[in-house]
Amino acid sequence: MAKIEGIYAREILDSRGMPTIECALWLDTGAVVATSVPTGTSVGKYEALELKDGDMDRMLGKGVLNAVNNVNTVISKAIIGMDPTEQTKVDQILVDLDGTENKSKLGANAILAASQAVLKAGAISLNVPLYYYVEKKYQLTNQLNIPSCIYTMINGGEHGADNLDIQEFQMIPASHIGFSKSLDMAVTLKQKIEEILILKGATHSTGIVGGFTPNLYSNTDVFEILIETIKTSPYTFAQDIFFGVDVAAEQLFSNGKYKLRDKSQPYSSEELIEFYKKIRSLYHVFLIEDPFQEDDLASWAKLTADLGETTKIVGDSFLATNINKIQKAIVEKTCNTALVKPNQTGTISETIEVIKAAKDAGWQVIISHRSGETNDDFIADFAVGVGADYTKFGPPNRGERVAKYNRLSQIDFEIKQSDTAVNKINTNQTI
Ligand code: PEP
Ligand code: MG
Repeated sequence: MAKIEGIYAREILDSRGMPTIECALWLDTGAVVATSVPTGTSVGKYEALELKDGDMDRMLGKGVLNAVNNVNTVISKAIIGMDPTEQTKVDQILVDLDGTENKSKLGANAILAASQAVLKAGAISLNVPLYYYVEKKYQLTNQLNIPSCIYTMINGGEHGADNLDIQEFQMIPASHIGFSKSLDMAVTLKQKIEEILILKGATHSTGIVGGFTPNLYSNTDVFEILIETIKTSPYTFAQDIFFGVDVAAEQLFSNGKYKLRDKSQPYSSEELIEFYKKIRSLYHVFLIEDPFQEDDLASWAKLTADLGETTKIVGDSFLATNINKIQKAIVEKTCNTALVKPNQTGTISETIEVIKAAKDAGWQVIISHRSGETNDDFIADFAVGVGADYTKFGPPNRGERVAKYNRLSQIDFEIKQSDTAVNKINTNQTI
């Protein structure tokens, strides 16, 4: 049994140039792992707290030196000497050390950095790939598969350039299409979207997760452009490829209404439901994430009742990867798909609990990146290991997003080839 010999965190920058935490952990066997945690832009009010220094003389108050210090002092002291495969025990210690509802004492960023490092160390201590370790340890799936990928091709809202309101316009290859074909489609379509945007004279810079941020009159114009793009490709719309949106509606909500440029007056909740029904039938939008503000429960329930049979109504900020929120949503039928971001809750064990609750309720699970990412590809292994139905890692653009696709591609290779190391693991080994 290996033991944690040391853990050391540092402040690094994420893909937006904002501070976040990197953490190295080493075992008495000499093995070392490193991991880093992502950060969000459209952060929901029910998420665990990412501890920022608030020192306005340094990085506009966004530094994370206090959280880093929490890893290097109190967390380090508590977990040194522990077996890294005892994830539940370690995570419980982290939760108890913090002692607050939203991890505001030590910071969810500090806690997750340690929790993720321990998971990676557990895998390395047994000499198995991380995705395999997660699969065997948590048994949330009995088959290693690459989840279907949700590719965010166009960005608006807080991820965009102030010309579209919907935060993400997603292209989703049909779920029977395998990973390498799906990546081929995404790469092809991304290039073709760019060509069409240039042709139309629509600005085509990219947003913070790498999707294009074109100048268009309305949100629905995006679907027209995407359909036009698909027509120039070898693929068939609504057969090979479908659409999804992350509305991130909290950001559009003011005085009880939702502001979208598709109509001069703000939308009431009822009008927004009609808007969603329209895009569902006209544009085959079969996934709608955060369609309403977090507390507009009646609208969540109405949309799920009206469209849920054929449409994924996805809770991101709404569920905040929080076990109480998801249990309530399951009972109240306020959505039907869980978007899971480990840093919304702060430990791996709590994230696993949320995934289990979703799966037990027959929901589908999407494992998601954050807008502020690092080059750590942890989330790719995690998504495969928990048997997620979908991943949401952005478009195949920008190093920090592509890192995740490249890791999925490696895993795809490893699990398919019988002569790779993962298929030679002694399956009698206990995990
Ligand atoms: C999202 O809303 O799904 C997302 C990835 O954005 P952020 O990380 O900014 O919350
Ligand atoms: Mg979202």
